[in-house]
Amino acid sequence: MKNRIQDLRDAQDFGEEGGVVPVIDVAATSTFMNPADMERTFAGELQGCYLYSRHSNPTVNAFSRKFAALEGTEAALGVSSGMAAIAATLEQLVPTGGHIVTSRTVYGGTYALFKNVLPRRGIDVTFVDGGDLKALERAIRPETRVLFTETLSNPLLRISDLKAYSAIAKRHGLKLVVDNTFAPLLVHPGDHGADVTIHSCTKYVSGSADMIAGVICSTREFIQSLIDVNTGVVMLTGPIMDARIAHELYVRLDHLPLRVKAHSEMALHLARGMESKGIPVIYPGLASHPEHSLMTGMLNPGFGHGGMLTVDCGTALKAMELANELQKVKFGLYAVSLGFSRTLMSCPSVSTSSEIPADEQKEMDLTPGLLRLSIGFTGDPDLMLGRFLDSWKKVFG
Ligand code: PLP
Repeated sequence: MKNRIQDLRDAQDFGEEGGVVPVIDVAATSTFMNPADMERTFAGELQGCYLYSRHSNPTVNAFSRKFAALEGTEAALGVSSGMAAIAATLEQLVPTGGHIVTSRTVYGGTYALFKNVLPRRGIDVTFVDGGDLKALERAIRPETRVLFTETLSNPLLRISDLKAYSAIAKRHGLKLVVDNTFAPLLVHPGDHGADVTIHSCTKYVSGSADMIAGVICSTREFIQSLIDVNTGVVMLTGPIMDARIAHELYVRLDHLPLRVKAHSEMALHLARGMESKGIPVIYPGLASHPEHSLMTGMLNPGFGHGGMLTVDCGTALKAMELANELQKVKFGLYAVSLGFSRTLMSCPSVSTSSEIPADEQKEMDLTPGLLRLSIGFTGDPDLMLGRFLDSWKKVFG
């Protein structure tokens, strides 16, 4: 397997005067020294010219190239959010009518897009237990175009067997689209057969909870199709990444490997400590996780099992009581989102998965008292574990 960390390291762009980082090219539009070239560019006869920044921009391109090197795909495209990445990818792949099969345990926003927005365009979505490969295959119809899943699901931390998904997709001529937001660097879905990998860069890729951004990774052909001046969904509906955001992310990519490793180390330390005290913790790095071996088999070496864990507190009220206690002792912050340097906590049944009706939450085993923790890497591991255990004792006795 190619060494992606070296590829990321070698993706080097210089500033105009030789600076160690590229400049931010904020221009919305670019000059054509030969007017005939503008006509040829619009006609699709001339490639590689900067035209207008909704189509392409040097800084966004630099970020996209660097991200593609990391993800191991031919190309990538920075967009304005994770949801933009999902929505644009699906609109490009399923322009009118059709059917999508998705694993059931997906992010609440994705669920709402699938349930409430795509059907307005005549796209039907079937939700299936992602661990039941036979049911996934049974759900495929003649008009199915896409199989969708999350590598490590939000918030249940279920693992998708991407090789098996890819085999199903290939057998039926579907595109496999994988949301890898929870597992950057841990897993490269493209290596396991994904046709398109998307990330919400708002999370780990940014790492500082200070921006909204996304990226789509795929073949050069698919990425080009997204910015086609006549039919490209990103070009024509407009959710391109801003050059200033692209620059921020470009420089942060260099330390993403260090950050992911640090998140995993802290999460494993806390998960082991919680489990040793009998706390009902779910973490893919624990042997007790039902899909521990499946995930371990897909992992790139050296990054651990990620920074996400959940604890079942019985009721939403208890989950909030615990979170409140943990916030008071500076263990973490009660806020949605993930991948921040500090720990973020939320209760998905009443927040990021509240779009999913209660009966469906029950069907997918999303319990009301589930507390989701995105474990940060700041602080002393033993001290942070002590704070968690003390707070748990205070709430649960
Ligand atoms: N995918 C997953 C797994 C997420 O958790 C989220 C947001 O929480 C998104 C996509 C959407 O990302 P964004 O908020 O950047 O649009």
